[in-house]
Amino acid sequence: MQRRKFLKNSGLTAAGMVSAPLLGSCKNDAKSDVDGKIIVPNKPIVVCTWDFKNASAKAWEVLNTGGSALDAVEQGVRIEEADVNNETVGKGGRPDRDGNVTLDACIMDKDSNCGAVVYLQNIAHPISVARKVMEETPHIILAGKGAEQFAYAQGFEKEDLLTESTKAQYQEWLKTSKYETPINIENHDTIGMLAIDEKGDLAGACTTSGMAYKMAGRVGDSPIIGAGLFIDNEVGGATATGVGEEVVRTVGSFLIVELMRQGKSPQEACEEGVKRIMKKNEGRKDFQIGFLAINKRGQTGAYCVHPGFSYRRYDQRGHENITSDSFLKT
Ligand code: ASP
Repeated sequence: MQRRKFLKNSGLTAAGMVSAPLLGSCKNDAKSDVDGKIIVPNKPIVVCTWDFKNASAKAWEVLNTGGSALDAVEQGVRIEEADVNNETVGKGGRPDRDGNVTLDACIMDKDSNCGAVVYLQNIAHPISVARKVMEETPHIILAGKGAEQFAYAQGFEKEDLLTESTKAQYQEWLKTSKYETPINIENHDTIGMLAIDEKGDLAGACTTSGMAYKMAGRVGDSPIIGAGLFIDNEVGGATATGVGEEVVRTVGSFLIVELMRQGKSPQEACEEGVKRIMKKNEGRKDFQIGFLAINKRGQTGAYCVHPGFSYRRYDQRGHENITSDSFLKT
């Protein structure tokens, strides 16, 4: 009891006493091997699905100036939400089969607080609405009209999210109205972002317009805590992209964090996550899934079904687009 009190008052935990000198040496150690023999936490660091250079640079700017992981991931993914050339996130996202752009997003912090919006229309930054749900309401998920009304009450503005480009593509799609889930191997897709700040705390965000020409009302994995995103400040975080139905069925991001808790590296955990999905889909090759994970030490990993997935990592050594290994090789 006495000792605990002392540790609390001095601001040191038993673990903190051991690691404090190491943390000091880590800050400027640009040579530490974050993928292999890391002995000290690599922080701050941010990773995001796909090669979203501008979004990760924004998040890094926040982290590098002492900002929190939570602010970093929100600010980071907002870059993609605002980019009308990204047709899978935010404004300029492709619509559902009725021509409506409906957005999904969630955010989670170091204390396991989380917020999400699903089937949100007319608001360009669902991630910020999700954060408001987390911080301003006793709830975790708001959907559809309720989420939209809440956003207006919080000062968000109504915007038309359909652009000339996505409208033209939709009109073209209407000619056949063929509903399929394409294997997305392009370099832009749902953005899932995971960060560790200078204090060593984690946060994550995930935002998407979902699958193009989806059924009206369809919600994927991206705004579902545990599926599209999960953070546990003791262990690490994970996020997903690809066909959301498959990620939901395995509660993918939660699974990966739990595998890391059991001792797997982020890479091993992502591989196991994809293998579980493939086992449930024996013989199926018509879908893509990409998992991305980070552990408390700042080690990262990714794995996907088809070649084509990558993630961007930004840390004290600079930034890099890292190609993910895949379950299927061609
Ligand atoms: N995971 C997203 C969804 O299912 C879409 C994607 O990442 O392509 O809505």
